[in-house]
Amino acid sequence: FNEIPTGYPEPGKTTVFDENRTIDLENAPLNGGVLLKVLVVSNDPYLRGKMRDPKILSYTDAFKIGAPLANYAVGRVVRSESDNFKVGDHVTGTFNFEEYTILPASALSYLRKLDNNTNLPWSVYVGAAGMPGRTAYSAYNEFAKAKKGETIFVSTGAGAVGALVIQIAKRDGLKVIGSAGSDEKVAYMKEIGADVAFNYKTTSTDEVLDKEGPLDIYWDNVGAATLDSALGNMNVNGRIINCGMIAAYNTKEPYPFKNLLRVVSFSLSFNGFIVSRLDNKYAEKFYAEFVPLLASGEIKYREEKTPFAQAGEAIQRLQKGENIAKSVIIVADE
Ligand code: NDP
Repeated sequence: FNEIPTGYPEPGKTTVFDENRTIDLENAPLNGGVLLKVLVVSNDPYLRGKMRDPKILSYTDAFKIGAPLANYAVGRVVRSESDNFKVGDHVTGTFNFEEYTILPASALSYLRKLDNNTNLPWSVYVGAAGMPGRTAYSAYNEFAKAKKGETIFVSTGAGAVGALVIQIAKRDGLKVIGSAGSDEKVAYMKEIGADVAFNYKTTSTDEVLDKEGPLDIYWDNVGAATLDSALGNMNVNGRIINCGMIAAYNTKEPYPFKNLLRVVSFSLSFNGFIVSRLDNKYAEKFYAEFVPLLASGEIKYREEKTPFAQAGEAIQRLQKGENIAKSVIIVADE
């Protein structure tokens, strides 16, 4: 991490690929921990929030200038001083964006061993079978309070989280409306079961929601104008699940909401959350119940892969909304 961005992160400026960092693979001290070969690191919208002045408090630490980025990742154990992790084990946790990384003993409680016999590619463990999957599964179960036949609207419905929410809601018997930013994404939302899918760049969100609503549940991935349109079309006692507001991550302009009063007049509930705070309650159920649905193909996912040397470009593309699926950065194949 090289410099705090003012707008979109810029490869070569905000982030630099440093080929001079080295690690002594045979002799570097592990202090009771493990040395990992990193296979995949995740690219997620919230990384932009970590590229900030560390004096600004948030739910997650700011990146340090001069230190590597870090995020959810999968790696293979190359050396181990821990009884719990053997050479050859595949593990997921939060690692530096490095080809090899050392986790000290104190970090091992956050490391999860993965089943070496799984039919899922390792990259899926930072996507549908990882943090974005837990986000969709945990928050839907915690906040949707869905009844069969109700209507849900999912913005960014072709994305890592949104595409899973569409499928969970469909299996729950809801009418599902999805929005996304391209016709190709609209086709994908239909393929995974959305009853109504539209391109918000070419179709008016207000018009679609007016025709297909009212909404009992709105899963918000975007904030700003999309949230305002959803607010204006919510049913009495509707539930809004505030997962994210990516439209606000790279701009300082506050959005002038018109329909906020409806929260009061229609008795709406607004449920913001951070997935890690739901993990105690849902993570084990997620791995036991949801990941097998991915492995069997009953729930679908798709990925966009970028080689490690272009991580900075992938980060910018995601912040601009130009990714077409869950963005993963491939560091090594095996
Ligand atoms: P995605 O894979 O969906 O990628 C981001 C997508 O956001 C883009 O592809 C783009 O799709 C869409 N988008 C919509 N409006 C904008 C905009 N103004 N600028 C840029 N992109 C835009 O990401 P995720 O599924 O990983 O994340 C979705 C949301 O969930 C994010 O807001 C994220 O911060 C949040 N999140 C929250 C968590 C929590 O704990 N609360 C945990 C994980 C994610 P399109 O073409 O449809 O516009």
